[in-house]
Amino acid sequence: MNNKPNFSNLLKCKGLKVTKHRNSVLEVIESSNRPVTAEDIYIILKQKDISINLSSIYRILDTLVANSLINKFIFEETNKTCYEMNDMQHKHYLICNGCKKVFPISGCPLHAYESQLEDTLDFTITNHKLEIYGYCKDCKKK
Ligand SMILES: [Zn+2]
Ligand SMILES: [Zn+2]
Repeated sequence: MNNKPNFSNLLKCKGLKVTKHRNSVLEVIESSNRPVTAEDIYIILKQKDISINLSSIYRILDTLVANSLINKFIFEETNKTCYEMNDMQHKHYLICNGCKKVFPISGCPLHAYESQLEDTLDFTITNHKLEIYGYCKDCKKK
């Protein structure tokens, strides 16, 4: 037996059919500690000997996004579409200019600043975007 996380309930919960590939894609996204691209998922599944083509992965990702199981977002700078589990948390990211990896950071430093702006400028803020660029630990060494 294996102790892999089982996403069947999550899928059933949304009224989606449970398939091996949907489970595998969710498992890759869940076990990654950073947002992944469809290509990342493809490579990881291939290493696990799971045969699936890239267009099927995109189809699965679209379904999962449409059912709010995962989030999809595009980083403007790198123009890469990334996916992560939808844990309903407001997050920001560090993006490495070298290897283009994306690192989630917890917490948001802007909420206090937002309320200050709302007060002083009489502006109602609905959301914001913040991406921080630089070089990761590995790329700094190079
Ligand atoms: Zn890097
Ligand atoms: Zn924020």
